[in-house]
Amino acid sequence: MKTARDIAKNVNNGSSATLELEETLVRIKEQNDELNVFLYVDEQGARAAAQRVDEIVARGENAGPLAGVPIALKDNLCTVDVPTTCASKILDGWRPPYSATVVEKILAAGAVPVGKTNLDEFAMGSSTENSAFGPTRNPLDPSRVPGGSSGGSAAAVASQMTTLSLGSDTGGSIRQPAALCGIVGVKPTYGLVSRYGLVAFASSLDQIGPFASNVTDAATLLEAVAGHDSRDSTSLVEPSPSLVAHVEDGVKGRRVALVRELVDGADEDVVESVMKAVETLRAAGATIFELSIPELRLGLSAYYLIAPAEASSNLARFDGVRYGLRVDADDVAAMNEATRTAGFGKEVKRRIMLGTYALSAGYYDAYYGQALKVRTMTIEAFKRAYQQADLLIGATTPSVAFAFGSKTNDPMAMYLSDVFTIPTNLSGDAAISVPFGTGEADLPVGVQLLGPGRSEASLFSAARVLERADGRE
Ligand code: GLN
Repeated sequence: MKTARDIAKNVNNGSSATLELEETLVRIKEQNDELNVFLYVDEQGARAAAQRVDEIVARGENAGPLAGVPIALKDNLCTVDVPTTCASKILDGWRPPYSATVVEKILAAGAVPVGKTNLDEFAMGSSTENSAFGPTRNPLDPSRVPGGSSGGSAAAVASQMTTLSLGSDTGGSIRQPAALCGIVGVKPTYGLVSRYGLVAFASSLDQIGPFASNVTDAATLLEAVAGHDSRDSTSLVEPSPSLVAHVEDGVKGRRVALVRELVDGADEDVVESVMKAVETLRAAGATIFELSIPELRLGLSAYYLIAPAEASSNLARFDGVRYGLRVDADDVAAMNEATRTAGFGKEVKRRIMLGTYALSAGYYDAYYGQALKVRTMTIEAFKRAYQQADLLIGATTPSVAFAFGSKTNDPMAMYLSDVFTIPTNLSGDAAISVPFGTGEADLPVGVQLLGPGRSEASLFSAARVLERADGRE
């Protein structure tokens, strides 16, 4: 498998981005019927982008750090004039009038966006089974889920259809599918990557981040999309950190804490991999100790009040007037109701109802207000932990990829897939999932490294130590 770095280097040296794209389109044609990774392949737009890159190089200029690299975009990222569905029927026929900032940034870096990937409807789920357009299959075992909600983006890279992809992570939706598909996934610090043009799910938690088959490529992509954007008021104003330059820094002298709450309850095969990862970091010169952060146990409950509350507000805009689907009825209120009834799937409706309830007068303090207190406790607890440790380590998910249908009738079992990833979204800090070892049925295990805000460079260098030890140069 060619890495993004190899492709960009070759293309900048004159090899054809157009040819690279045509090979990508063939791989997509060969695999997409079975795996259902792409909801839309933008052949025309991709060819135009590849041609632009070839022209820049032909003029003797550098086409950027991602020159000619094929990339897939989660279908909740707006792409001008290209359908953006959020895997929901309610956005049927909608073509955004603008592109997300990250899409503009990857184009400026020379990347070639090839299409839009499947997800759980509005990014609500952990298996991609909540898509209105059918589930995505895990390329490593098509009888199992790729994880979610960015399952399509993870599977695009794991199947080698594209070299890179972008996803969004509100409670784990990049790290969990990365773990289940055996690739690298990053939830950047809140505000590091502009969310202008990301269809909002839970605005205080959402972050856009990279998927790649290796740590260096993930760092390259994150570096390309990070940075202040005046169109996103939550975007950090500090200059974005240099990441690629630090990938080989190692972990010598770094204090790494194994967090009990981030392994408790995980399957034995997963715990075993985490323990091996801990020993690997120790051997590479890190100082290891164990830590308990009991507040993390409350994360899941707080998240399932805060995220639905914000979603119920964000999704109010889909009313049959401004976007996509409209089901006609006698008056406006009846039209709104008929449109939303027909357009939203079961899980989205469940979240809207949960969120509306949690925010309603009389229940606000008991539910939403209480969840915010737990969130503050989580933030404080992480702060204390990061006074003692530079990085934390645990599992990304409790198990390796699970079978289709095994959790669809039990929302709580599905929600528990994100029990180890959610706390980082509540605190706004950074975390990475890196494949390390295998578990049941020889499927990959994801190890999670967590750090304070803007610690991405340090996360990448620790992940790189694990990647090397796992035999991937
Ligand atoms: N699985 C979690 C949920 O369903 C997280 C989703 C996400 O990060 N977008 O809300």
